[in-house]
Amino acid sequence: MIRFEQVSKVYPDGTTAVDGLSFEVAEGELVTLVGPSGCGKTTTMMMVNRLIEPTSGRITVGGEDISAVDPVRLRRRIGYVIQQAGLFPHRTVLDNTATVPVLLRWKKDRARARAAELLELVGLDPKVYGSRYPAQLSGGQRQRVGVARALAADPPVLLMDEPFGAVDPVVRERLQNEFLSLQATVRKTVLLVTHDIEEAVRMGDRIAVYGQGRIAQYDTPAAVLGAP
Ligand code: ADP
Ligand code: ADP
Repeated sequence: MIRFEQVSKVYPDGTTAVDGLSFEVAEGELVTLVGPSGCGKTTTMMMVNRLIEPTSGRITVGGEDISAVDPVRLRRRIGYVIQQAGLFPHRTVLDNTATVPVLLRWKKDRARARAAELLELVGLDPKVYGSRYPAQLSGGQRQRVGVARALAADPPVLLMDEPFGAVDPVVRERLQNEFLSLQATVRKTVLLVTHDIEEAVRMGDRIAVYGQGRIAQYDTPAAVLGAP
């Protein structure tokens, strides 16, 4: 579903963030990108929705070379969840969740119904939380809205950048487990960036262990942990 072929990224200041990267993510697979800060994980992920353009190499999504796809259209097919959720502070939870369906010009009723359905799916009662504003939610609840918003238009691909990084360890573990049971039903193709090896192991079908700008190991959690 996602394929990198010899992809490199050199920033204008000369920093090589990603260096000749080739890997593939199968449809419905959840791959975690793990490694220390500054090794190229975020750069890798942001090239998938063209928030960053590669310097060389080729990236395909669903068999299509993304350099030929209009970035705005591409991003509507790719859900994006970031640390601190990045919700619009002046829009209600329901309106935040309906963002992409509205951009796609779904009928208003359908967009709102879909948003309510997604809030339900991430464990937030839309009748209670739909009319609240992000500031009126806990950190964990905001991350759930972030996930609901990313999934609202049912994109095949989901990018998650430290999605559970900003909450305390107890909430983090709960969100991880909730997301895994959600993923068992929605089966998105997911790239999840984390610097937490435990999270990478718990969440990933496969783990990409980053060194400087490269993937040093790409394997199942068991193999990465060195089990027989
Ligand atoms: P990670 O997500 O693993 O922390 P990043 O992809 O953010 O790594 O960064 C990889 C490298 O590229 C780092 O050395 C970082 O400082 C550098 N980098 C990231 N963004 C930019 C930028 N806009 N301009 C210059 N260098 C950058
Ligand atoms: P993250 O923890 O998600 O990797 P960072 O704090 O590394 O985020 O980077 C935040 C923002 O700053 C990103 O948009 C990234 O592109 C940019 N950035 C990171 N490193 C550099 C750098 N060395 N020069 C310029 N911009 C950078």
